[in-house]
Amino acid sequence: MRAVLDHVGIAVQDLAAALAFYRDALGLEIEAPEDVASQRVRAHFLPVGEAKLELLEATAPDSPIAKYTDKRCPGLHHITLRVDDIHAALAQLKARGARLIDEQPRPGAEHSLVAFVHPSSAHGVLVELKQSSAISHLPSAISHQPLAISRYALGDLELISVSDGFIRLDGGAMFGIVPKPLWEKQAPADGRNRVTLAMRPLIVRGARTMIIDAGLGAKDSAKFHDIYGVDRTRSLEVTMAEAGIAPEDVDIVLATHLHFDHAGGFTYRDAGGRVRPTFPRAQYIVRRGEWEDATHTHPRNRASYLADNFVPLAEAGVLQLVDDDATIMPGVKVRRTGGHTMHHQMVFIESKKKTAAYVADLIPTTAHLPDPWIMGFDLYPMDTLAAKQRFLKEALEQEMLVFFEHDPVVAAGYIRERDGKRRVEPAVR
Ligand SMILES: [Zn+2]
Ligand SMILES: [Zn+2]
Repeated sequence: MRAVLDHVGIAVQDLAAALAFYRDALGLEIEAPEDVASQRVRAHFLPVGEAKLELLEATAPDSPIAKYTDKRCPGLHHITLRVDDIHAALAQLKARGARLIDEQPRPGAEHSLVAFVHPSSAHGVLVELKQSSAISHLPSAISHQPLAISRYALGDLELISVSDGFIRLDGGAMFGIVPKPLWEKQAPADGRNRVTLAMRPLIVRGARTMIIDAGLGAKDSAKFHDIYGVDRTRSLEVTMAEAGIAPEDVDIVLATHLHFDHAGGFTYRDAGGRVRPTFPRAQYIVRRGEWEDATHTHPRNRASYLADNFVPLAEAGVLQLVDDDATIMPGVKVRRTGGHTMHHQMVFIESKKKTAAYVADLIPTTAHLPDPWIMGFDLYPMDTLAAKQRFLKEALEQEMLVFFEHDPVVAAGYIRERDGKRRVEPAVR
């Protein structure tokens, strides 16, 4: 096992006093705080070389950190060692008789997996193991999917789920009328009430190569990145390269709709500041009604449509508008769902009697399976409801492989229903 010191956790009772020492007296830089809602803890990281110090502050009286500082004293709380494979590390420790607090890793900050080893096995120190970025296994039943790329065979077609990283959106807006105590269990909120969403475009490889949506892209300002908690460490460029696909390989770019988290990657800003199509050989296919709405905004949808993401496509002559539910390439057809936007469309992919569905913002995450779990962003929620009910019935009957564009953990799976309760069985890649 290779283990690297990631950080040292220090429980503090008086944050101002702790900052007076660590930040002011020692002169260390401090990063923006991060809330771990499930632990009722706010973490302040101070980089020290390759590793960091983590000041841990309780956000509620029943926080484990509050209990710790009450019972013992403020001070050294844990050390965190980063390992490549947390499952292997836990198995090795268990085999050697170490006492584990977490037998299975669980999600930690910044999309990591973490597990604690009991101090009694580590000579009085609480040891946290951490595996960065790739969420390969989570303890819940719904998640055995990797974070970035996953490949699926569908008849003669290959489907590759890629990623443009994560954004954070207000949890209340993401779940509409659903009360926070319910949605919070599915999607924990950070200190600014935001939940983490993935952006997962889908590549379809058959006679031609198509990409459906393209994530956020790289044109946005630092302020935008802060507001939306953008994390593009594993961006579309990176994950496409991992999948062995270059931008020049793409023949068709298909838009479900033109919101910035779907169409941002359609264009990029070159060194001279000009905005150009990201996929130099591709035709970009957009539904005409969506194009009209995106280019004629009103106060309720304006913040979602950024002209630089799509107007340059028309200027470059690579834009193709489609009017109806058309076949885009052999095996790939679109269906207007409405709801989220008037002309939002989903995509069906079919080969050798097998069907996959890319539902985009009709059902953005697996948490949105129950009927009333509809985004507050949706312009026509009753249309979302009707389209969702229709689609879920079809997906169940036809055993469709369903892709969830915004789910932070599950890229794709099959819908199951029992006693009126729906769940997703993740697809084996
Ligand atoms: Zn949208
Ligand atoms: Zn979206």
